[in-house]
Amino acid sequence: MTDPQRKLIIAIDGPAGAGKSTIASRLARKLGYVNLESGAMYRALALRAIEWDASFDDEAALLKMAQDSRIMLEPAIGGNRVLLNGKDISARIRERDVSEGASRVSVHPKVREWMVARQREMGIAGGVVMEGRDIGTKVFPDADLKIFLDADPVIREQRRLDQQKAKGAPAQAIAAELRERDRRDRTRAASPLEAAEDAVVLDSTNLSENEVLNRIEELVEQRVAARR
Ligand code: C5P
Repeated sequence: MTDPQRKLIIAIDGPAGAGKSTIASRLARKLGYVNLESGAMYRALALRAIEWDASFDDEAALLKMAQDSRIMLEPAIGGNRVLLNGKDISARIRERDVSEGASRVSVHPKVREWMVARQREMGIAGGVVMEGRDIGTKVFPDADLKIFLDADPVIREQRRLDQQKAKGAPAQAIAAELRERDRRDRTRAASPLEAAEDAVVLDSTNLSENEVLNRIEELVEQRVAARR
């Protein structure tokens, strides 16, 4: 029987720009849970590959690098603080070369297997909002609540552009990169991005951040009530 005292495992999956990180962070804060950004781990590995001049296509070398690295996610307001072997890489891993690298290193099944095992360890005790692409399908197929957060591609591109504008990145290139990452995530053989069968699909195209958050909070309350 489920222990009614155990805190929930909440999975939030969806494509880039759907608003997962912001929602996961705000939801976790409200519930007193920790938010874990699984994508940051793929980003950390991509950064390591860049620094060591390794190919994003060399699965064996990437796996070894992952095994030899200490990747730590520390919940913080507005996202995770990410440490690679003790060094704070939180800002660096949001840059475009790392985004592209993360999308490429994450296609490899052995790399994914390793990441999924670490992510399970981090979240298994509950009290966690974990966001990514395969949390509800692979990392926590028994999660208490699964959300698939989607939005119209045009809106997602616009949100990404707004985030990157301050850095002076060219709009067309950002939109093209987002589309390519999406395509790669949805078509890769290992754990492609898709909604779990029992996920609640939320389309945030016409919803404010607060509306999305309220809807998820209602679902959390329902799940908690169902366990009493
Ligand atoms: O979520 P974020 O954009 O930081 O993720 C970076 C990349 O890592 C994504 O483009 C995706 O290819 C990959 N990823 C993944 N599985 C996850 C989280 C992220 O494949 N659970």
